[in-house]
Amino acid sequence: MKIEDITKDTLKKLNAMPAEELIKWAFDEFGERCAIGTSFQLTGTVIIDIASRCAKKFRGFTIDTLRLHPETYEAINNTEEKYVLTVERYFPDENALKNMIERFGEYLFFMDKAKQEYCCFVRKVEPNKRALKTLDVWITGLRRDQSDYRKTVPKAEIIDEENRKILKINPLADWDMAKIWQYIKENDLPYNKLFDMGYDSIGCIICSTPLVKGEPPRSGRWRWFNKEDEKKECGIHK
Ligand code: SF4
Repeated sequence: MKIEDITKDTLKKLNAMPAEELIKWAFDEFGERCAIGTSFQLTGTVIIDIASRCAKKFRGFTIDTLRLHPETYEAINNTEEKYVLTVERYFPDENALKNMIERFGEYLFFMDKAKQEYCCFVRKVEPNKRALKTLDVWITGLRRDQSDYRKTVPKAEIIDEENRKILKINPLADWDMAKIWQYIKENDLPYNKLFDMGYDSIGCIICSTPLVKGEPPRSGRWRWFNKEDEKKECGIHK
């Protein structure tokens, strides 16, 4: 199948599929042009496990911002070992990173929202764009219950990416944390240990912190920007 062949009816069918069926469909139809993008949070762990059961072969990639927690690197290694998989790693462009640090220092994300977004662009968004160039179908772990901003996330949608169309699939969009934990425990999956330390959403060190009981899931991200209307996104998901 080609992206151009995906009609509104196809999208409707995809949006009605349960996670396993959707992931299988994506890899069956697009093979190497389909990949799971994960930052090794719990959803990525579940999606990789489902793919390992229903797809003959599958690709997974991650953005290594060079600022990840040791526990996240450990989760990547454990996943590679369990599934005999090489997770493709995309790093920030060396020159862009050097230029950014020379202009604003390592900790520019504390200065203001624009500098945080600049840092996220250099360390995450641009490497992610390079990953997206290698695929037509991008599988992500977005869920509707993560924040108000994500509450209408579809399971499948066509998005514009650098003047072309790609299919973005969020197979766990309608899962909640209880269901995710249940899947992880029942299948004894290796998961990022930060989730045993109070974290609920994980990005880079410093910019991700554990939650205080009762806080919304993404409150621990960029805590110094905690205002009701503040969009807690790095820019990878527009
Ligand atoms: S999460 Fe923080 S350190 Fe990581 S890319 Fe974004 S602003 Fe930079």
